[in-house]
Amino acid sequence: MSLPCRHRNNVVCLDRPRKQEQEEATEDVTEVAPGVLRTQLPISMPGLGHVNCYVLEDERGIAVVDPGLPGAESWGHLVDRLERAGYRVSDVHTVVVTHSHPDHFGGAYRLRHETGADVVTHKSFLTLFDGSGEATVDEDGRPSEDSADLVFNSAEERIDAIERYLGRPTPWGGQRTGPPREFLERLWADDPTSSGLAGPLKPTQPLIDGQTIRLARREWLAMHTPGHTHDHLCLYDPEHGVVLTGDHVLPTITPHISGLTLHTDPLALFFASLHRMAGINDVAIALPAHGHPFTDLSGRSEHIIDHHEDRLEIIRQAGRDLHEGAVGEGTVNDYMKVLFRERSWGDMAESETYAHLEHLRTIGDFVRTSVDGLARYAPA
Ligand SMILES: [Zn+2]
Ligand SMILES: [Zn+2]
Repeated sequence: MSLPCRHRNNVVCLDRPRKQEQEEATEDVTEVAPGVLRTQLPISMPGLGHVNCYVLEDERGIAVVDPGLPGAESWGHLVDRLERAGYRVSDVHTVVVTHSHPDHFGGAYRLRHETGADVVTHKSFLTLFDGSGEATVDEDGRPSEDSADLVFNSAEERIDAIERYLGRPTPWGGQRTGPPREFLERLWADDPTSSGLAGPLKPTQPLIDGQTIRLARREWLAMHTPGHTHDHLCLYDPEHGVVLTGDHVLPTITPHISGLTLHTDPLALFFASLHRMAGINDVAIALPAHGHPFTDLSGRSEHIIDHHEDRLEIIRQAGRDLHEGAVGEGTVNDYMKVLFRERSWGDMAESETYAHLEHLRTIGDFVRTSVDGLARYAPA
């Protein structure tokens, strides 16, 4: 049973114990908007049981949005779902990837390889695993070239690069543990596209904010929505009021905000991206990457903003408590233990805590010092 969530306006709501995003993938194919089908692919990641792979139909065939994890097992499910929807892999002319997480981009490598499908992402698309871990972005959000040009000659080399990335200390002086090598091998080693030809996944149609793309017989507006990742892309069809929200806005969980990002204040970007979602009028249906389609995109976006405002207030209070106590300042790990319940402690919780602390530092509420590479934060 999860704890009640208190909004800024003091309304208390009880979140359901089992979240939609945790549900196991079904084999259903459901038309959720004209020419837009929802299918689900199994994944097992923390808090997630499926990823929605949307199928967008037109006269040329289909586009798929977020085709699941890499690897043969997920590929088998993707082929099955396309068949249930009445299509073959050869019908796929476009793959849309909402952002650089493996449950979203994984299947895109092989679709591109087998069908020559166009790959549509935001222009700044870059998986941190594919980069050197030192990538930066320019003012347009484009990753630095050196990091985007790695080529792997085998699955082993790719996994080695991931482990090198995971072996680096975090910007706050913590350790990354990351997934075990067996997990990475299972993901990549049995995927034919992971050896020989697979460098980083590169978009063939990189989009920038405000650009339009024609899919499912209508125009979609590209919305760059950084926060959950630096490269997150939502697509908005104003004609039918359909929004593909990716992981940016999910129905019953709040997406992870990582401090390990190419931007210094990802939480500020996330707030701005949520305000943009809240400002879309006439939403008929929002199509998230996990969980069920929903209608109140504005309300859900505002709820997530309130949630993070509440978490910032918890950190401010923890800072005051530390200040009044003997300690004075706290490490990211200290604040994490206040912000998260014990069962959630670990890399991801530290990273999200760091993102909140850096936001407070950026807006001038907190100061940061560093002793032997270990960051410490205190109220300004
Ligand atoms: Zn994600
Ligand atoms: Zn996801």
